[in-house]
This record gives sequence, C-alpha cells and structure tokens, in this order.
Amino acid sequence: MSETIFTKIINKSIPADILYEDDEALAFSDINPQAPVHFLVIPKKPIATLNDLHSDDKALIGHLYWVASHLAKQMGFAAQGYRAVMNCNEDGGQTVYHIHLHILAGKAMGWPPYQAQLKTL
Ligand code: AMP
Repeated sequence: MSETIFTKIINKSIPADILYEDDEALAFSDINPQAPVHFLVIPKKPIATLNDLHSDDKALIGHLYWVASHLAKQMGFAAQGYRAVMNCNEDGGQTVYHIHLHILAGKAMGWPPYQAQLKTL
C-alpha cells in the first residue's frame, strides 16, 4: 500500500490536532470539519479500505470503535449522540486510502444519506 497523508500524521512528520493515541490507534481532528465536532480514528497499521481487512484485523476494528466511544464520553457528547462512519472506495466517498472512522457530533445528523428521486408524472 502506498503511503498516505495519515502515515505522515502517525509518524508526526506533519502536524495534526491529536486527541488520543495508543500503540494501535490514533484520533485527530478532521482538517475540514463537517459538523461542530468531527474527528477521525485510524489504526496505525495501514489498511487501504474496508475491503482489505483480514480476519486478524477484527479486534483492531473493534478497538477503533472503543476509542471513539471513549472520546465521546470524555468530550461530553456520548449521551446526546453522534455518527460513526467509514467510507469505502469511490461510491462511499473515500478520498484517503488508509481506513478511518469519522466521528461527527454536535448537531442532529440527517438520515438516510440518500433518497431515491421520486418520479413525478
Ligand atoms: P474520506 O473522504 O472518508 O476518505 O475522509 C478523509 C478525511 O480526511 C476528510 O474528511 C478530510 O477532511 C480528512 N483529512 C485529509 N487530510 C487531513 C489532514 N492532514 N488532517 C486531518 N484530516 C485530514
């Protein structure tokens, strides 16, 4: 897998607003926030897309969600709620090919993300 901007953030060769770090994961603020709170939780292991997960990555993916919920409680928006989403490939809207969990909070999120266009006569 070729190196992405997230590898540079993990290696600290470019700056980021780091919210959490351990041996396996890193969380940092999204540079282009789409909600009052928007941060990313990434594995330090470079995995390009959800399609590239191996069975031995299952615990790592669970860990990313744990980090998200830990930060949600610490930052005070856990009870109010939030969106946790991973985009995959082109139709999913993925632009950085190092898997990442988006955490969006601080406003009510719309759902569903897509509505079929209604046919009008
Ligand atoms: P996605 O489109 O799901 O691949 O999401 C990639 C996310 O990474 C976008 O929300 C970007 O704003 C964010 N992003 C890209 N570069 C940086 C960076 N240097 N620091 C923080 N977030 C970034």
